[in-house]
Amino acid sequence: MSFVSYGYNMLDNNASVLLIYTGGTIGMVEDPETGMLRTYDFDHLKEYVPELSRLKFHIDSVHFSEPIDSSDMSPEKWKKIVWLIEDNYSQYDGFVILHGTDTMAYSASALSFMLENLDKPVILTGSQLPIGKIRTDGKENLITALEIAVDKDPEGNAFVTEVCIFFQNFLMRGNRTTKINAANFKAFNSFNFPILAEAGTHIRYRHDLIHHPLPNSKPKFHYALDSNIAIIKLFPGISASVLKAMIEIPHLKGIVLETYGSGNAPGKKWFLDIIEEAVNKGIVVVNVSQCASGSVNMQRYESGIALKHIGVLSGYDITTEAAVAKLMFLFGHGLDRREVKTSMKVALVGEATIE
Ligand code: ASP
Repeated sequence: MSFVSYGYNMLDNNASVLLIYTGGTIGMVEDPETGMLRTYDFDHLKEYVPELSRLKFHIDSVHFSEPIDSSDMSPEKWKKIVWLIEDNYSQYDGFVILHGTDTMAYSASALSFMLENLDKPVILTGSQLPIGKIRTDGKENLITALEIAVDKDPEGNAFVTEVCIFFQNFLMRGNRTTKINAANFKAFNSFNFPILAEAGTHIRYRHDLIHHPLPNSKPKFHYALDSNIAIIKLFPGISASVLKAMIEIPHLKGIVLETYGSGNAPGKKWFLDIIEEAVNKGIVVVNVSQCASGSVNMQRYESGIALKHIGVLSGYDITTEAAVAKLMFLFGHGLDRREVKTSMKVALVGEATIE
């Protein structure tokens, strides 16, 4: 892992950002002969984004020794990112993480739990077109994310004090985002929570919505995660044998059950019996809707009521990405089933609207 200091135009003020490059399209260039995307030497970022020289703050960058396609992102790599932030926390005003778009919403969700009580911005961004392409969306995303990372009020307090994704002019709470498009520049949405800032001629922040650190307490960096989690996505025709095989996975601790609409699932006895068996084995089952927008309501339909009756928890309007990350985080911290259930009923970092 190597640090590169650009020493840009220092310094209308003494602000500085640490840019962490993990991989993904944004850090790639197209081979002119084959058209294939390959990673370039990130130390030469400035050649591709000369605009960086005109920013009036300092940027250092550090990159994964082997940049990855974000399909290879993992809890181990999230820990590496947390470590980089913890190790450099006092030296920078903000952090920008360049990340592939495919799993960016999972990473943003996980980091929102792992980086507790932030008083500085941690912004993930990426792009749909490589930075070396003329029409790239990467430059705009990168430059504005960097500006947000140093933006402060006149008293010197950061405007953004949480983990966010910035993409295509919108700053979104990281644990509320979902990737919605594999081609359009608008690749992410935050369906169940308003955007935190919009970049136009000015960057307009929704200060009333941004998560603030607890007064007089320091940031905390968490590393413990437990990946004994599964996602079960329902579909008409799902069989008892598939469901049974899933709940019998050794050491399984949590299931994100992706249900229909407002949290509905088959009312058949065999189905409810298997889910109840999972609950009785001590597995925490969380009901998350397959709909991108709206909330689980386990009081409205008979099938939702039946799930509640056998001990399935409502995920309210949480995303699947955030539900997975939250379960990994809670079990990682050694909480028992009862404690995990209690924590799933509250929003720890604004990840759900609890009704
Ligand atoms: N496959 C790439 C990744 O997620 C796509 C991207 O960067 O947008 O790493």
